[in-house]
Amino acid sequence: MDLVVAIVGRPNVGKSTLFNRLVGRRIALVDDTPGVTRDRREGTGRLGDLTFTIVDTAGLEEADSESLEGRMRAQTDAAIEQADIVLFVIDGRAGVTPIDEHFADILRRTSRPVILLVNKSEGKAGAAGAMEAYGLGLGEPVAISAEHGEGLADLYEALMPHF
Ligand code: GDP
Ligand code: MG
Repeated sequence: MDLVVAIVGRPNVGKSTLFNRLVGRRIALVDDTPGVTRDRREGTGRLGDLTFTIVDTAGLEEADSESLEGRMRAQTDAAIEQADIVLFVIDGRAGVTPIDEHFADILRRTSRPVILLVNKSEGKAGAAGAMEAYGLGLGEPVAISAEHGEGLADLYEALMPHF
């Protein structure tokens, strides 16, 4: 059975871009089917010789009556519960935000392996974002660029021991 890898993080850090890259298709942002939950998208991810079920948590971008914090909490809890491995994505250009800290607080308490990804790390912006991310207490950050396909070998190295 495939391992389940869940992508979590605040809106706009590049979760869906990463999802699309690992799935190899642009499916994360296109879901107009009424009645189908928009909170969660699943696909078959591939990285090198690894194959896994990948889950994009997208519902935070959808406006509804619940508070952002409540929705984040619910989504993160659900993602963690069903995941074998959690990819926690932050934006290396924006730096660590209070919402990222909030996610990190939740994720530090889980027994699931968490891989901290510093996205948007293409070019020179990358290194600074990764340094700051050490402070989240989730181990060594992995600098990637989901959009440009950089750092995927490092992501592979981080994922591989869990397979
Ligand atoms: P999500 O809300 O976390 O799912 O984020 P999206 O995948 O929708 O991406 C949010 C924005 O960040 C979009 O404008 C993407 O094009 C951009 N983005 C995603 N990955 C990267 C990256 O590696 N580098 C840069 N510079 N922008 C990115
Ligand atoms: Mg998204």
